[in-house]
Amino acid sequence: MDAVIVGAGFAGLYMLHRLRGLGMTATILEAADDVGGTWYWNRYPGARCDVESMQYSFSFDDALQQDWRWSERFAAQPEILRYARHVADRFDLRRDIRFDTRVASATFDETAALWRLRTTAGEEVVARHCIMATGCLSAARLPDIPGRESFRGATYHTGRWPHEPVDFTGLRVGVIGTGSSAIQAIPVIAEQSAHLTVFQRTPNFSIPSRNRAMDDDYEASWKARYAERRRHARTLRTGIDYPLNPLSALEVDAAAREREYTARWERGGTAFMASFSDLLTNQAANDTAADFVRRQIRAIVQDRATADALCPTNHPIGTKRICVDSGYYETYNRRNVTLVDLRRTPIEAITPDGVRTGEGEYALDAIVFATGFDAMTGALLGMEIAGRDGATLARHWAAGPTAYLGLMATGFPNLFMITGPGSPSVLSNMMVSIEQHVDFVADLLAHMQASGAATVEADAAAEDAWVRHAGEVAQRTLYPHANSWYMGVNIPGKPQVFMPYIGGVGTYREICDGIAARGFEGFRFTPSASRAAAE
Ligand code: FAD
Ligand code: NAP
Repeated sequence: MDAVIVGAGFAGLYMLHRLRGLGMTATILEAADDVGGTWYWNRYPGARCDVESMQYSFSFDDALQQDWRWSERFAAQPEILRYARHVADRFDLRRDIRFDTRVASATFDETAALWRLRTTAGEEVVARHCIMATGCLSAARLPDIPGRESFRGATYHTGRWPHEPVDFTGLRVGVIGTGSSAIQAIPVIAEQSAHLTVFQRTPNFSIPSRNRAMDDDYEASWKARYAERRRHARTLRTGIDYPLNPLSALEVDAAAREREYTARWERGGTAFMASFSDLLTNQAANDTAADFVRRQIRAIVQDRATADALCPTNHPIGTKRICVDSGYYETYNRRNVTLVDLRRTPIEAITPDGVRTGEGEYALDAIVFATGFDAMTGALLGMEIAGRDGATLARHWAAGPTAYLGLMATGFPNLFMITGPGSPSVLSNMMVSIEQHVDFVADLLAHMQASGAATVEADAAAEDAWVRHAGEVAQRTLYPHANSWYMGVNIPGKPQVFMPYIGGVGTYREICDGIAARGFEGFRFTPSASRAAAE
C-alpha cells in the first residue's frame, strides 16, 4: 500500500480522497465503527459546532457545498455526523476504511523504508507513508479523583458519550467541569434532570451563540459567493469569515467600546473576540472585553454569590478557548441547579453515592465528566511510534512536542500529522486547517512521485527554527498567561509549552506555500532505489 491513514474524522476522510486523486493506494484504520471522529464520539446533549456551519464544512468540492443544506446556524452533533457520513458515501470512501481497528504502534522499517503498523488485535498493516489524522481533541481525559471507580450510579464522559439515548429524567446529576463541552451540556441536562449540581474549578468566558434555524436568504448569500468567501477565510487569522475590527480597544472611547461589544454580544458567537484587533495581545485592551462579559454574567445571573463564582478572573478572555452557549448563564436561575465553587471547597473524593467536597457530600444518581482531553499530543502518544534507529516519538517530545510546520517530526520519515502541534489547528476553523494540511501533504507526495523520492523527512535545523519561531510568536500574545490545555496544563506531568501555532491561518498558509514553491525547503528527500540506480 502507498499510504495508511489513521483516523476517519474529517481529516482522514479528505486525505483518503486526495490520495486516490494521486492514483495512490491507501487505507484508513479507525478505532470507531463509523466515520466522523469528534462528531462520532461527542454525542452529549447540546453538542454543536461553534463555527457557523456554512463555514464549518468542506470547501474542496463545489457540488458538495452547494448541495448540502444545514438546518441551523450552528449545526448540532447529529447533523454534523450525518454530514461526515454523507461525505464518506458521496466520495465512496468506505471501501477503503477499516473500522473497529485501533492502532497500537507504528514502527519505521528503515531497511525497507516502510511503516509497519500494529493494531490492538495484533494485525500488521504495512505502507510507505503513514498519515496520522488522529485528531487534536480525541483522547478523552478522566480526572484522577480518589474514589472515581467506587461511584454506584452511572458515569459518562462527554467525549465518549453512549450511542443509546441517555435519559436523566428524575435523576440527580452532577457535571464536573465547566469548559466548552460542559457549557453546552449543562442547559440541556438542567431541563431534563430533577436536580443538577455543577462542580466548577475554573469559570470560563462564554458568549451566547444566538443559534437559530438557517435562514434561506443567509444560506443563499453564502452559496452565491461560496468560492470567493472560502478563499477570503483562508487568508484570515482564524480561518473564519466574520467582521474584523482593525481598531485597538484603547483607541476608542468607553462609549464606542460598549457599542461594539454590545453589538457583538447580540450577534453571538466567537466573532466577539474580533471586536478589536488587540484583545489577545494587550492586557489593558483584553480587560475591557473581559469586564464587559463579567457585567453580562452579573446582569443575567440573579443570585449574587453564584454570579460572582461564574465570573472568570484568572485568565485573559480568549486565552482559554472562548465558549459559545445556548442559555448557559440563564440556567443558574433555575431552582433545580446548584453551582459548587471548587476553588472554595475542592473535591475530596467521589464516593459510592456522590461527590464529597470540604463542605459535605452531594448525593447523585449520575456523574458527567466534562473534563476534556489530552489535547494535541494525546492520541499520537497513545500509540508507540518509533522512527529512524528505533527512536520513539515519546522520547523526541519529552520536553514538549516539536515538528516542522506541525507536520513532520525529525527522525520520522514519511510520517505526517494532520493539524499536528506547531500548526494553527485548534486556534482556527479546523475545517480550513485540515484542508490546508491535507492539500500540503498531497502536494508533497505528488512532488515525491514526480521526482522519484522514496522518503521525505523534516530537517533538524528546519524543525528547530520552526519551533523557535512558533514559541516567539506565542510569547507576543496573552495566551501563555492562561493555565489552558493549549499549554498542556490540564494533564499532570505534561510538558508546559504552547502547542498550537498562533501566527494565524493566513500567515501560516503563506509560509507553507512559500516552502512548497521553493521545492519543499526544510524537507530532506532520499531517492527511490530505481532512481538512485539510474543516477
Ligand atoms: P477527529 O475528528 O478527532 O478524528 C480522529 C479520529 O482518529 C477519531 O475517529 C479517532 O477514533 C481516530 N483515532 C485516534 N487514535 C486512533 C488510533 N490509535 N487508532 C485508530 N483510530 C484512532 N473545531 C472547530 O473548528 N469548530 C468547532 O465548532 C468545533 N467543535 C468541537 C466540538 C467538540 C465537542 C470537540 C471535542 C471538538 C470540536 N472542534 C471544533 C475540534 C474538532 O476536533 C475538529 O473540528 C475536527 O472535527 C477534527 O477532525 P480530525 O479528523 O482532525 O480529528
Ligand atoms: P476543557 O475545556 O479542557 O474543560 C474541562 C473542564 O473540566 C474544565 O473546566 C476543567 O477545569 C475541568 N476539570 C478537569 N479536571 C478536573 C478535576 N479533577 N476537578 C474538577 N474539574 C476538572 O474540555 P472541553 O470542555 O471538553 O473542551 C475541550 C475543547 O474542545 C474546547 O476548548 C474546544 O476547543 C472543543 N470544544 C468545542 C465545542 C464547541 O463549542 N463547538 C464544544 C466542546 C468542545 P480547569 O479549567 O480548572 O482545569
